[in-house]
Amino acid sequence: MTWFEETLYSGSSNQGFQQRFEITRIVHEVRSQHQNLAVFETPSFGRVLAINGIVQTTEKDEFAYHEMMVHVPLIANGRAQRVLIIGGGDGGVLREVLRHPSVEAAHLVEIDRSVIDVSRQFLPMLSDGAFDDSRAEVVTADGCEYVKDSGETFDIVIVDSTDPIGPGEALFSQEFYENCHQRLRPGGILVAQCGVPFLQPGELSNCYQRLGREFDDVAFYLTVIPTYVGGFLALGWASDDPALRHISIEDLTRRWAETGIKARYYSPAMHRAAFDLPPFIAELFDNAS
Ligand code: SAM
Repeated sequence: MTWFEETLYSGSSNQGFQQRFEITRIVHEVRSQHQNLAVFETPSFGRVLAINGIVQTTEKDEFAYHEMMVHVPLIANGRAQRVLIIGGGDGGVLREVLRHPSVEAAHLVEIDRSVIDVSRQFLPMLSDGAFDDSRAEVVTADGCEYVKDSGETFDIVIVDSTDPIGPGEALFSQEFYENCHQRLRPGGILVAQCGVPFLQPGELSNCYQRLGREFDDVAFYLTVIPTYVGGFLALGWASDDPALRHISIEDLTRRWAETGIKARYYSPAMHRAAFDLPPFIAELFDNAS
């Protein structure tokens, strides 16, 4: 029996903690210009994409992440036409963004083209044709450079990055958030994956401090993805209009119904509830303030 042993908490961070998956079949492995990619099959989670030994997404639980990364900001905004995705090479966020009839353009900026190519070929269910949608524009670039140099503006910026290790580290920097702010139209919203508070509390505190220096309203909302091991995953939220975080359940419900989208994790009730944080997470901000 062969096992995949994740290195996120047992490698350099040495937290002495590891999750592992039985591998029933190695589907593909490649060393790209930037990182090691692996796709393998598992009994419990279907196909898994790992980058540098760290789980990125799995066939069975990806919906809990991609739906909450996308529908919370787009339904809160209510009229998103242009969306910027930084990272997200597996295509799951792009798929969910393009389900919104209001979206006219979705730009995906991925540093490693191999992630897109491998995901399209070996995990096609993730993008589900999104890369072929005429509204999708794929840019192979460092997201940090793109937001600095691009003159484009967007209603929503979604930072679907790896953890702050290697190329992903730049996507948690103050400079990056400042430049993302420049890319946002009035009423715009930025969301970013900010780690698992139980095991990566520093990641969340850093996101809070850095986003807080740049945006008027910063918060976090929660989702749960079993293979982002350690309990809740915190998604960072930043905008310059606090009202965007307090849309009534009636308006959320109406807007959601108008999209006609059917989801397995997102609902207007979950949208509202996701912002209610347990004290052990909320207190991370008190320490960071
Ligand atoms: N959902 C996953 C998570 O929460 O860990 C992330 C999935 S997605 C595969 C992460 C992507 O970020 C990878 O494809 C990686 O190549 C990309 N990435 C890392 N650093 C980047 C950068 N500086 N600019 C653009 N993309 C980057």
